[in-house]
Amino acid sequence: MSPNQAAPQLHGSCLCGAVTYQIGGPFNMMVHCHCSMCRKHHGAAFATFVGAPLMSFKWLSGEDQISSYASSEKGRRNSCKHCGSVTPLLLEEMDLALVPAGNLDGDPGIRPQVHVFVGSKAPWYKITDDLPQHEEFPPEFGVGGVERPVVEPREGVALGSCLCGSIAYEIKGAPLRSANCHCSRCRRGRSAAHASNAFYKLDDFRFTRQDAEIRDYKVPDARFFGVSFCAKCGSTVPRVSKERGAVVVALGPLDTDPGVQPAMHIYVGNKACWFEITDTTPQFETAPPV
Ligand SMILES: [Zn+2]
Ligand SMILES: [Zn+2]
Ligand SMILES: [Zn+2]
Repeated sequence: MSPNQAAPQLHGSCLCGAVTYQIGGPFNMMVHCHCSMCRKHHGAAFATFVGAPLMSFKWLSGEDQISSYASSEKGRRNSCKHCGSVTPLLLEEMDLALVPAGNLDGDPGIRPQVHVFVGSKAPWYKITDDLPQHEEFPPEFGVGGVERPVVEPREGVALGSCLCGSIAYEIKGAPLRSANCHCSRCRRGRSAAHASNAFYKLDDFRFTRQDAEIRDYKVPDARFFGVSFCAKCGSTVPRVSKERGAVVVALGPLDTDPGVQPAMHIYVGNKACWFEITDTTPQFETAPPV
């Protein structure tokens, strides 16, 4: 972008539309983060944040509808209390507004620059692009990362939990189907480039801990689409869908390797303009043929 050109004003919103904001450029960073906290909070394989100076950010609605969870001594994770979408973080000391790119309409003009926290990425996820990879944060960020304790794998089951640990679950067996979904609902609901979901039989899934309320938000005009999340920390948790006869499990938050890789990319026609698919997994413009 030339310096004379006006910076883009992009509009952002959560899945339910309660929290809205606008952000102008210049966008000065865009990162894919693979840390376990982002994976759990977003319910995605990785989170993607764009950054711009604080003065270019403005809340339009719903600032009082945000719930905030202290994920570490200094870190906070914010999300919409109605739908669980991740909401922007305003970092005064860095003069930085960090916005989950999946919640923005339009093109921020910038493209992802780097993968961070690759050391704790989901075991089933393969990075296939050429961007630089950092085990944690690159030193120029000036901050360290905090990770959750490692969960011991158990034979024959995949284990998952939310960021605060109030909700835990286990799954046995193979999924009925799995996909990376690029539709706008998934991008907003997961606050990420795309969702990576597996559908399991109801009988193959169970919650093993439920010490916080699980909230459910269904998109009013959708047949099925909704999200379930921990009321305490805002993390995505599996959505038990009796009407579909399946449990929709986001693979990103799992603590152990489910031994599954999403079998396809779906709704690629709706994909975020800033995200490029670089793997060889089959792609479908909309839903896959049945
Ligand atoms: Zn919302
Ligand atoms: Zn992260
Ligand atoms: Zn939680």
